[in-house]
Amino acid sequence: MPPEFIPTPQPIEVSVVLPAKNEALNLMQLLPALFAHLAEHSQRFEVVVVDDGSTDETRSVLVQQIDAWPQLRYVRLARNFGKELAIAAGLNAARGRAVIVMDSDGQHPPALIADLLAHWRGGAEMVYTVQTDRREALITRALKQWFYRILERASGTVIPANAGDYRLLDRKLVDVLNAMPERNRFMKGLYGWPGFRSVGIPLQVNDRQNGKSNYSLIHLAWLAVTGLTAFSMTPLRAVTFVGGVVSFAAFAFGLSIVFEYYVEGVSVPGFATLAVGMTFLSGIQLLAIGVLAEYLGRVFEEVKQRPLYVVAEELSTFARDEGASEAPKPATLHRWRPRAPAQRRSRHRGPLGR
Ligand code: UDP
Ligand code: MG
Repeated sequence: MPPEFIPTPQPIEVSVVLPAKNEALNLMQLLPALFAHLAEHSQRFEVVVVDDGSTDETRSVLVQQIDAWPQLRYVRLARNFGKELAIAAGLNAARGRAVIVMDSDGQHPPALIADLLAHWRGGAEMVYTVQTDRREALITRALKQWFYRILERASGTVIPANAGDYRLLDRKLVDVLNAMPERNRFMKGLYGWPGFRSVGIPLQVNDRQNGKSNYSLIHLAWLAVTGLTAFSMTPLRAVTFVGGVVSFAAFAFGLSIVFEYYVEGVSVPGFATLAVGMTFLSGIQLLAIGVLAEYLGRVFEEVKQRPLYVVAEELSTFARDEGASEAPKPATLHRWRPRAPAQRRSRHRGPLGR
């Protein structure tokens, strides 16, 4: 009797990661179009929705859809961890040889998937989209451009201006990102850091279908601080530089007072100079302490070594097909700290063997 033929499961070619916070209505509209485009362009794909602490009907919408679409996977984070960490969770869960990250609010058109895949199949290791028509206030646009220019200079990493989160990443890049342990994740910088071959394609962003954006200008300003401090030590150096310049100026001013007193016979200058000088210097000192504190705070976050995010629940029909347990898994903690090999650990043991 010929041996029984057991087909090996085909590897997944394309994964789509959708971070979602309160996007029930938008996902209901987006998913059918997304599946249609994916089915047209790939034999084997999956869609991973990462529910980032939604308080609306996102979960029940997904649970309803999961039986209709076996390629759909649902990962629920235990609370809201923020979009950057939701993307990290999605990248960690994705199994495809290419991973596409897109917003779930309908602003990123699924029609562009054909282009993304074509460039990837043509050899690109990252395909990012560049927003062509930014419908933003002039000041916001100018600030963003400035920020990216400064960040590129300061970090030495290529961060194209106006490039958004809608992008395709090759498995090689996903593996590198998954191995990055930092908690302060400024994704736009991290994508470019490994330096893989990248192509940019134009994107016309749609209007948000339902609900409103999670990001105000204040949020964006904080994200900018995260980006700058995570990618560069330039602010620390700038503070040292300003300190040097101010000290030099103070010294020169002191010399000029001595000169005026002894040579020109002018008495000690007045109160105004003293007051302005003191407040100016206090300002600089507080600013310097603020910059140091910003870095110290981030080091504090990193050394705690807490997990990046906590997965509360994972649902998928695929997992059931592949023989995985149907019961929801316990909360999964994701740490990427490599374990020290046992041998090396034993070499550092103390006299009591501890
Ligand atoms: N998002 C998320 N967690 C958050 C905030 C946003 O997963 O804490 C998701 C959100 O559901 C959407 C995407 O990130 O799919 C982009 O968010 P949003 O539309 O609010 O940002 P904008 O498009 O205005 O930059
Ligand atoms: Mg949006």
